[in-house]
Amino acid sequence: MESSGNPNPIASPDPQPTGGNAVAPEVTTASEASEASAPVLSDGTLPANQELWQQSLGWQPSETEQAKLQALYKGIIEGNIKLNLTRLTEPAAFWEKHLWDSLRALRPWLLGELALGKPDQAPKIIDIGTGGGFPGIPAAIVFPQSQVTLLDSTRKKMVFLQQLVSELKLSNVRTVTERAEASGQQEQHRGKYDLALIRAVGPVTVCAEYCLPMVRYGGMAVLYRGQWSVEEAEALTEAVHLLGAEVTEVKAFETPLSQGTRHCIYIKKIAGTPDMFPRPVGVPVQSPLP
Ligand code: SAM
Repeated sequence: MESSGNPNPIASPDPQPTGGNAVAPEVTTASEASEASAPVLSDGTLPANQELWQQSLGWQPSETEQAKLQALYKGIIEGNIKLNLTRLTEPAAFWEKHLWDSLRALRPWLLGELALGKPDQAPKIIDIGTGGGFPGIPAAIVFPQSQVTLLDSTRKKMVFLQQLVSELKLSNVRTVTERAEASGQQEQHRGKYDLALIRAVGPVTVCAEYCLPMVRYGGMAVLYRGQWSVEEAEALTEAVHLLGAEVTEVKAFETPLSQGTRHCIYIKKIAGTPDMFPRPVGVPVQSPLP
């Protein structure tokens, strides 16, 4: 396992996200959502930040992609009034913690360092526990040749996202309302995806158990994390071994505006996942691997 960027991520000055180091800190929890009402925006325009994209990713969105990202922002802000999808409603915070954060993890594919999918086949991407559509919708915008599945167990969010992707004319996106534990045992999802993404859904080995059964042999999963500890690294190494995979890289970096700590864990599927995984609904959380 290789680590790069931050030589000592555990010593980062960033505060721990809610619930320990399980999730990126900016995502609204159910309790936060019920307390907070969505702030009204003074100006609904996202910053372009082309230089920041270029400096931090070596990539920047095209005009078409920028227009789609802007439309996504507008749609989420409107949906937020009823659904409390995010507390990050200011343009700069939304840009950094939803858009940039979603796409930073995809840098190896944006830059062509890793192949997305098999030759001559539309790459299949799944975002597990997509919530308000992150990171799956930004991924669908920048990889229009891919087929993106947004999976979440909360029906009202998925009804909203289905409407939103249709307004954004993202014909490469479908939504599935289901628990990851159920999807991972179904023929139409099991071993079918080239790339699985998961951000802010739970403890790291739970995320691995949700993702890896749905990844094909040779495919990858990316776990989006805030802080990262030695204990998590050790548990994940054991868990992914049980699931037929190996951690190939842990990438540490800071967000470009507020210097928040992030880690992306890249995992490759190198064998079949035993039939018993994912375990029945609720079990991965109640008895996390290994
Ligand atoms: N990924 C989004 C983000 O980073 O902004 C949303 C994160 S939100 C905190 C967690 C989401 O995961 C919720 O929408 C929840 O419904 C979903 N979720 C949690 N456990 C799940 C499971 N077992 N199967 C499917 N969705 C799940």
